[in-house]
Amino acid sequence: MSAGESIRERAARVLDRVARAAARSGRKGEEIRLVAVGKTQPAWCIGEALEAGLTVFGENYVQEAEEKIRAFPSVEWHLIGKLQRNKVKKAVALFSWIQTVDSLGLLSDISRRAGEAGKVLPVLVEVNIAGEGTKAGLAPEELPALIEAAPGLPGIRLRGLMAIPPWTEDPEESRPYFKRLRELFEECAQRSGAGPVMTELSMGMSNDFEAAIEEGATMIRVGTAIFGSRARREA
Ligand SMILES: *Cc1c(COP(=O)(O)O)cnc(C)c1O
Repeated sequence: MSAGESIRERAARVLDRVARAAARSGRKGEEIRLVAVGKTQPAWCIGEALEAGLTVFGENYVQEAEEKIRAFPSVEWHLIGKLQRNKVKKAVALFSWIQTVDSLGLLSDISRRAGEAGKVLPVLVEVNIAGEGTKAGLAPEELPALIEAAPGLPGIRLRGLMAIPPWTEDPEESRPYFKRLRELFEECAQRSGAGPVMTELSMGMSNDFEAAIEEGATMIRVGTAIFGSRARREA
């Protein structure tokens, strides 16, 4: 991407690519939630993205997100980074969705804090889809227990699954993981017994969101394709 491009121009191009990929999977662009990932970007970038028509934002760090969420409280904010148990209360207060539930313990904490705050929070379970030792997320074998426990927990609604496949330049290398996550998702949706609430599949980032949409993503999380490259501070 060229450095001179504005957030508006990049956002427009991403939306166009989303619409085309959605059409290839028999859907409309508006059916895909585009989560604009603003980690390490200053708050004014969020303002520009809003002006470009984006309405859903994702942040990785509770601390960093707080200032931006206070600046733009009326948009939909998703937590997409690892949630430490000691930050659950704050995360529940700030975010509209939590995409990174990776244990029953964490889900129970969110349930309790959301109950205290009088909220019902939609959440996704993060799956370690490639079984990478270094990655966050629940092993696929651990999913059934969590899916079965969720309907009994107040304050949360388990809405679907999220995953981050191993990083690769080539989106075709991500596709098998997207397919696998979609299969797991369908098994879970049948198992959940909680009515039609397991509807969301969060997968796909700047380099592979089109393949993810073709494989059934309902949410994509896109950072650099919208905001440009970011200062390196991810770990
Ligand atoms: C940073 C991040 C993204 C966006 O990554 P890009 O490659 O910049 O689009 C998506 N999901 C998660 C969990 C992230 O941490």
